[in-house]
Amino acid sequence: MTQEYIDGLLALAIAQARAVKIPVSREIDPHVCLNRRARTRFGCCIRRAGRYTIELSAKLAEQGSEDAVLQVLAHEVLHTCYGCSNHGARWKGYARRMNDAYGCHIRRTDNYSGLGLEDDRPVRYYVVCERCGRRIPRMKRSALVDHPERYRCACGGALRVEEAGNGQEKTGKI
Ligand SMILES: [Zn+2]
Ligand SMILES: [Zn+2]
Repeated sequence: MTQEYIDGLLALAIAQARAVKIPVSREIDPHVCLNRRARTRFGCCIRRAGRYTIELSAKLAEQGSEDAVLQVLAHEVLHTCYGCSNHGARWKGYARRMNDAYGCHIRRTDNYSGLGLEDDRPVRYYVVCERCGRRIPRMKRSALVDHPERYRCACGGALRVEEAGNGQEKTGKI
């Protein structure tokens, strides 16, 4: 998607919100800022001196569908409303109004699969089943990665954790 196309989707998100009487700010930069660093965040609404800039993940701009991009932009546009810097009751009410009016799915949090993207963050651990050999890739630490002995594979087998890359078993805490 080109910058011009994405800016057009931002204008559409703003127009849709205003059409259902959602008081989005009049001070939104018409150019979406593409963010090439963030891997886990799809969009962001930045406020500087009373003006708002909407950031979008470059990955989503490159690989996401038009619906996914529009949904993330609309999510951020709602943050420009009075009292909507968080995902409180006011923000949620506007999100529901948009979803009901346009059949979109603005949510508090989005994830890769919900936006139709492949998760290509680097795999840091594999949880491996001792019985069936299934290997579950994990991008970050979690209770499962720290304490595989507390869990079982779907087949009932015991689990252990390998660090990705060197194939070595993780010993103790990092
Ligand atoms: Zn948000
Ligand atoms: Zn198994």
